[in-house]
Amino acid sequence: MAVSLDLTDAALRDRLGGGAGPTADKPCLIGLTREQLGDALRGAGVPDRQVRMRVQQLWHWLYVRGVSDFDRMTNVSKDLRAMLRDKFSIARPEIVEEQISNDGTRKWLLRFPPRGAGRPVEVETVYIPEEGRGTLCISSQVGCTLTCTFCHTGTQKLVRNLTSEEIIAQLLLARDRLGDFPDGDTPQGAIVPSEGRKVSNIVMMGMGEPLYNFDHVRDALLVAADGDGLSLSRRRITLSTSGVVPQIVPMGEQTGVMLAISLHAVTDELRDVLVPINKKYPLAELLDACRAYPGLSNAKRITFEYVMLKGVNDSLADAKELVRLLKGIPAKINLIPFNKWPGSDYECSDWEQIENFADFINANGYASPIRTPRGQDILAACGQLKSASERMKKTERLAYEAMMIAGHGG
Ligand code: SAH
Ligand code: SF4
Repeated sequence: MAVSLDLTDAALRDRLGGGAGPTADKPCLIGLTREQLGDALRGAGVPDRQVRMRVQQLWHWLYVRGVSDFDRMTNVSKDLRAMLRDKFSIARPEIVEEQISNDGTRKWLLRFPPRGAGRPVEVETVYIPEEGRGTLCISSQVGCTLTCTFCHTGTQKLVRNLTSEEIIAQLLLARDRLGDFPDGDTPQGAIVPSEGRKVSNIVMMGMGEPLYNFDHVRDALLVAADGDGLSLSRRRITLSTSGVVPQIVPMGEQTGVMLAISLHAVTDELRDVLVPINKKYPLAELLDACRAYPGLSNAKRITFEYVMLKGVNDSLADAKELVRLLKGIPAKINLIPFNKWPGSDYECSDWEQIENFADFINANGYASPIRTPRGQDILAACGQLKSASERMKKTERLAYEAMMIAGHGG
């Protein structure tokens, strides 16, 4: 049975060590580039000649050690720690809810404080453990401006872009909860080696269109890939886009991460309906941008995501056209069984049809894994984020909370 935990209750949150979350009044030092971090320290009175060294120290504490409290930075003087605590925050966001599926998938509902005159926002982050690796699915926006007809997030209006801090905070929090950072009592040198980490891969496939939040997503990915910090290989970071053509190559140039394209249809006529951004950037332009993606090679292929919709895009003629369209592009094809949500008119293709489709693609030389739906009991699958948890919250919270207090579900 899935386990869910409501962490809005302060006592329960304290018991589990979840922070109260950053406050809006103090600027947060998480998610800044080294230059921005240096500027923040300088602005707070750290002498110029010390800035470089302090940035190094903070970077190590924040991203290698994973601390969320200035007082644990033992090689920083007490006075400086007091000043930093006074002026800045490095607290984690509030965990509103944590759910653990019976297949090990975890989903966190996180709350971030208001930015400016706005309201607090909630986003979801999903962790998917697999044989030999673990993937964290990160959100880039609250809601989405696009309206792909099969996607539940697409029915929600955009509330706002997440900042790079909020994007990186999703990764830090997952690492906290999964034990990927050395805990407080481990000796200084005992760092969890990168091969042994639970979060080995990240995908920008949560809520939102990452290329409509370009700067913050880019900065966050550069922090995640920094070799002296979180140290995720660029080969293990994938950005998924519905096809914001002008931003595809620049994102590749500036970050070097892997690219996934939400293709879903092989004709402009159908893609205009399923992924309406296609009306602005049609297939031919999208595929040209793919061909121009920096570093593209057989070792660095583009993943084309293809949601299987019964009677809509799942015929063998579609499969044939798909193979023709992608000719010459180093590609993987990821078939995603459609995750149904209340109010959607689509159905998932029959299993046999998905297999026939996959067989055809395989026979034409493409690896085409069918993405196994994960975390279905906690509504953690693609396209189900946020709205679904809002529905669940009220009905399930109390029961699960009682269960947690009784000691289950650790
Ligand atoms: N906005 C970006 C990234 C987030 S969506 C994008 O569209 O690429 C992550 C993936 O889930 C996309 O490929 C999206 O098309 C797919 N998806 C959305 N809703 C889905 C659903 N109900 N069932 C299966 N896949 C879905
Ligand atoms: Fe937005 Fe991606 Fe959903 Fe389309 S599929 S509505 S771009 S989140």
